[in-house]
Amino acid sequence: MSTYMFICPDCKQEIEVNGSMRDAILSSGCPVCTEAVETAHFECV
Ligand SMILES: [Zn+2]
Repeated sequence: MSTYMFICPDCKQEIEVNGSMRDAILSSGCPVCTEAVETAHFECV
Protein backbone atom coordinates (compact mmCIF):
# COMPACT_ATOMS: atom_id res chain seq x y z
CA MET A 1 0.00 0.00 0.00
CA SER A 2 1.24 3.46 -0.84
CA THR A 3 2.35 5.76 1.93
CA TYR A 4 2.26 9.54 1.69
CA MET A 5 3.48 12.43 3.78
CA PHE A 6 0.78 15.03 4.14
CA ILE A 7 1.96 18.55 4.87
CA CYS A 8 -0.87 20.96 5.67
CA PRO A 9 -0.57 24.28 3.79
CA ASP A 10 -2.18 26.13 6.69
CA CYS A 11 -1.06 24.66 10.05
CA LYS A 12 2.12 22.98 8.62
CA GLN A 13 1.33 19.75 10.42
CA GLU A 14 3.12 16.77 8.85
CA ILE A 15 1.22 13.48 8.97
CA GLU A 16 2.15 10.13 7.42
CA VAL A 17 -0.94 8.63 5.80
CA ASN A 18 -1.96 5.66 3.64
CA GLY A 19 -4.08 5.80 0.49
CA SER A 20 -7.48 5.70 2.19
CA MET A 21 -6.48 8.33 4.74
CA ARG A 22 -5.25 10.49 1.84
CA ASP A 23 -8.66 10.21 0.17
CA ALA A 24 -10.39 11.11 3.43
CA ILE A 25 -8.22 14.19 3.93
CA LEU A 26 -8.78 15.28 0.33
CA SER A 27 -12.55 15.12 0.82
CA SER A 28 -12.84 16.50 4.36
CA GLY A 29 -9.72 18.66 4.78
CA CYS A 30 -6.80 18.70 7.20
CA PRO A 31 -7.54 16.54 10.27
CA VAL A 32 -5.94 19.18 12.49
CA CYS A 33 -7.32 22.50 11.23
CA THR A 34 -9.88 21.38 8.56
CA GLU A 35 -8.21 23.51 5.87
CA ALA A 36 -9.10 22.28 2.36
CA VAL A 37 -6.15 20.51 0.74
CA GLU A 38 -5.19 19.28 -2.73
CA THR A 39 -3.18 16.36 -4.07
CA ALA A 40 -0.14 18.66 -4.31
CA HIS A 41 0.02 18.70 -0.50
CA PHE A 42 0.90 15.00 -0.43
CA GLU A 43 4.33 13.58 -1.18
CA CYS A 44 5.01 9.93 -1.91
CA VAL A 45 7.24 8.44 0.75
ZN1 LIG B 1 -3.94 21.93 8.95
